[in-house]
Amino acid sequence: MDTPVKKIVLVDMDGVLANFELACQQCWRRLYPDLPFIELEERTTHDIKQQYATLGENYGNKMRDIIHSNGFYATLEVMNGAKEGLDRLKQSGYEVFICTAQARNTKCAPEKAEWVNRHLGSEWVERMIITRDKTMVRGDILIDDKPVITGLYSPCFTHIIYDQPYNRLVDSGRPRLTWSCSDAVVANVLKC
Ligand SMILES: [Mg+2]
Repeated sequence: MDTPVKKIVLVDMDGVLANFELACQQCWRRLYPDLPFIELEERTTHDIKQQYATLGENYGNKMRDIIHSNGFYATLEVMNGAKEGLDRLKQSGYEVFICTAQARNTKCAPEKAEWVNRHLGSEWVERMIITRDKTMVRGDILIDDKPVITGLYSPCFTHIIYDQPYNRLVDSGRPRLTWSCSDAVVANVLKC
């Protein structure tokens, strides 16, 4: 079986390339200006619906409806330094793919592709892998804000956690990554 010459780096979208948290909070505050909301630095669960559900009855469902609403994805901003970081990984000689989950909303995949085209460029649209189960994807590294990656298989990649307030209680034993230190962290992990 052929082995790719280049190392493969998979990069998650929500919470890594696209500012999912900020869009959720902004949308919540616009729709429900009189209800409490959670400051970004006080978020404690990867699944935002879970923490909002603790604030009041149906709050989790309200947040779910925001996330699944048509056009929500178009409101997401690019994370600071994400486009530059993605381009630098490619220029460093890695095979870089965007690896992102499909939601139950049927508009999810086309909205994500549209977002990538608009914010990152068309070359990245054809480098998108959209799957509910990332363990079915092969690669050397996955950069993802989700604290633990589970699925049908044991992951064949090394998971590097993208640092976010809601995943700081998890210690993977590896350095955490933000776009300001991505080159060094990826190079270090691939060396081990
Ligand atoms: Mg994510």
